[in-house]
Amino acid sequence: MKSDIQIAQEAKMKPIMEMARSLSIDEDDVELYGKYKAKISLKVFEKFRNKQDGKLILVTSINPTPAGEGKSTVTVGLGQALNKIGKKAIIALREPSLGPVFGVKGGAAGGGYSQVVPMEDINLHFTGDMHAITSAHNLLSAAIDNHIHQGNALRIDLRRILWKRVMDMNDRALRNIIVGLGGKINGFPREDGFMITVASEIMAILCLSKDLMDLKERIGRIVVAYDLDGNPVYCRDLKVQGAMAMLLKDAIKPNLVQTLENIPAIVHGGPFANIAHGCNSILATKLGLKLGDYLVTEAGFGADLGAEKFMDIKCRYGELKPDCVVIVATVRALKHHGGTPKDRLSEENLEALSKGFENLEKQVENIRSFGVPAVVAINRFITDTDNEVKLIEDRCRKIGVEVSLCEVWEKGGEGGVDLAEKVANIIETQPSNFKVLYNLNLTIKEKIHKIVTSIYGGEGVLYTKAAEGQIKELEKFGLDKLPICMAKTQYSLSDDPTLLGRPSGFKVTVREVKIANGAGFIVVLTGDIMTMPGLPRIPAAEKMDIDENGMITGLF
Ligand code: ADP
Repeated sequence: MKSDIQIAQEAKMKPIMEMARSLSIDEDDVELYGKYKAKISLKVFEKFRNKQDGKLILVTSINPTPAGEGKSTVTVGLGQALNKIGKKAIIALREPSLGPVFGVKGGAAGGGYSQVVPMEDINLHFTGDMHAITSAHNLLSAAIDNHIHQGNALRIDLRRILWKRVMDMNDRALRNIIVGLGGKINGFPREDGFMITVASEIMAILCLSKDLMDLKERIGRIVVAYDLDGNPVYCRDLKVQGAMAMLLKDAIKPNLVQTLENIPAIVHGGPFANIAHGCNSILATKLGLKLGDYLVTEAGFGADLGAEKFMDIKCRYGELKPDCVVIVATVRALKHHGGTPKDRLSEENLEALSKGFENLEKQVENIRSFGVPAVVAINRFITDTDNEVKLIEDRCRKIGVEVSLCEVWEKGGEGGVDLAEKVANIIETQPSNFKVLYNLNLTIKEKIHKIVTSIYGGEGVLYTKAAEGQIKELEKFGLDKLPICMAKTQYSLSDDPTLLGRPSGFKVTVREVKIANGAGFIVVLTGDIMTMPGLPRIPAAEKMDIDENGMITGLF
């Protein structure tokens, strides 16, 4: 069996200019980054202003398990399959972050015969967006410490600075640090820390902005600290929003690449799926909707987190209307939800599968509660037995949801033709009545309650004293009329990662509430959420190499 990177290296890529031309994008609007990558100018929107948007398809999944689900793989595969049945479909994915590449995850550009290429570039420096975001973010960090050093006219409370530094690497040693050591000329010593770049609010802002001016405006709104009277200090108070936006002038432009089957793919933006909303940029999605008749995109984690935030944050800000949602499940992952230990997932176990199906059932209900039709894609692994596949198909029929056995990992687009036909048919015959889950005018607690009870299936919400205080503070400053960004374990519908399947009777505990005022959401933390991952005992980096001809190995 070939590895993902071996398959990717055999790809017969078309020059990206040729891909752009096939989408009717003029040479003037294409900025080449080598032969196979390009940024698309935002001016292109002018040209397509009168063209009707294509149909929006979201790919999400059951709660993730260590068995793996394959959302990106199915997203790419479905895009390829739609083209196989004669539909003009485009794919929009998130940009991988270097940290996870060297940690445990490896590449994040799909898998098998459903990948985006050039795989090495996309996974490494790509078009420099991560570096630009890192620089813009750290400019603000430098401005804060410099402001304090130069006399602290804003009276920033050194103990209440919210803005940390960022870097695109998994480096646990930098989680908690002290800056400003070394005496008077080096500033004031204070506690600080690093997050990974994708956890930066700048990344979330980039992904939710309408254009460069909206980006600048949002950056100005970031709450960076509190002053000694307890009032918020905004980025614009430090007057660096213009310089930060300037550093992002190219990063805001969507990146065009292609799949193994030469289908256009826009890979742009990649915010964390816990403390941020976990979707590629609104601009990329909107561009794809203009360029194609169908746009297939994905959201991070499972449908309870990723799809909910896609609907309530991204679609709300982008004025997007999803037409169909594909929920990816695997036999292995459902067995895991039904209690099968990791080392026995390859054995047939209909009982565990049937029990684990409840997780999928709840996610189907969740998608329907947004008024959008759903279809289940079983991402086939070679260990799946016919009995197991049949069981899922039967159970899906019982709850009246379309289901398709998907073999896009093994066969590329050809393996997803049935799924593509079902998706296209649903879009033609079942209109989407999309609506967001909650109204922004509800209180913070009412909004959280709604998410917990209707999407997670929980009984209610508990708040720590700290969270209670933080909510009051946001209400006091009028920062409470924003959507909620839940930061919860991705492994369970509840806030307890060990409660698999479809738990009931639980209450979710909110430990911390933070404002991401530039991005435009309130982050609600239900547990310890890692914003700077560490490397595992044997990092994936140890298996990676490059030879004298530039040939890369081990990038999964
Ligand atoms: P997700 O988006 O859910 O994190 P990915 O699509 O990135 O998952 O896939 C994770 C890994 O699993 C990739 O290395 C991919 O090659 C592999 N994978 C996905 N689908 C299959 C499959 N059907 N059989 C074997 N491996 C698969």
